[in-house]
Amino acid sequence: MIRKIVKYGDPVLEKPAGPVTNFNTPELRGLIADMWETMYAAKGLGLAAPQVGISLRVAVIDTSAGEDESKKFILINPEILNQEGMQVGEEGCLSIPGFREPVKRANLVRVAGHDESGHRIELDGMELLARAMLHEIDHLHGILFLSHLSPLKRDIIRRKIKKLQKAGEWD
Ligand SMILES: [Zn+2]
Repeated sequence: MIRKIVKYGDPVLEKPAGPVTNFNTPELRGLIADMWETMYAAKGLGLAAPQVGISLRVAVIDTSAGEDESKKFILINPEILNQEGMQVGEEGCLSIPGFREPVKRANLVRVAGHDESGHRIELDGMELLARAMLHEIDHLHGILFLSHLSPLKRDIIRRKIKKLQKAGEWD
């Protein structure tokens, strides 16, 4: 089932999500299945549960946009173990549609987490995958990519979004 993606301005996007404590449940599997469907329908490379209004530490990532099964990753209760290097690249967010800006991120990242059965996993990412992992983990902390921009750029985008909200074009 495709769920509604909540947009910037909804408080659920800016509060830390809670940990998953029950694995292997129909609710968790259903949430993850819906998140894949919602992400692909929106043509995103990643989606975090708060973006569908669920404040849980769950994210899905597919940097191949559905082209390569081996590029699909589920992160549950992820923790960053290590970050190295630096990359700058354009970033966008399904909750902030229409805005893309260069964001500085680590180039290599190692993350520990759980799969949907509760098994501990470790995942290494570099370049685009590292960027996607860090962007989604930020979401689970209630942080949006706007936080990584200069205050000036952030204010310009916020003002544009406010106008869209007033015009009823941001829902
Ligand atoms: Zn995002």
